Amino acid sequence: MQQEIICTNCPMGCHVIVTLEGDQIVSITGNTCPRGEAYARAEVTDPKRTITTTVGIIGGGVLPVKSDRAVSKRRISEFMEKIHQVYAVRPVHIGDKLIEDLDGDGANLVATQNAE
Ligand code: SF4
Repeated sequence: MQQEIICTNCPMGCHVIVTLEGDQIVSITGNTCPRGEAYARAEVTDPKRTITTTVGIIGGGVLPVKSDRAVSKRRISEFMEKIHQVYAVRPVHIGDKLIEDLDGDGANLVATQNAE
């Protein structure tokens, strides 16, 4: 089986072909540099994404937030359940942590706007 991954590490957008036998990667081709291979390998084995969403603010309003690094895409719904239980308390400043260690691997949920 082959999977085509578009590397998003730079504007070249190389089309990287990952060949699998079962769940084993047997070859990776089409990448122009090693970053493309690492990206494609991660996309096939444990894809990661940065979460961007909002949480409510006590007293009214919503606060834009994001994970400060990419988290496992397969566990996004688990993380969203945690996030939906959180409310911010004013004042909040950009970079303030709303949830520490969201994924058990060091990613935090942080504010991306101030709320005075
Ligand atoms: S493989 Fe290398 S050159 Fe190609 S898009 Fe990825 S980072 Fe850019």
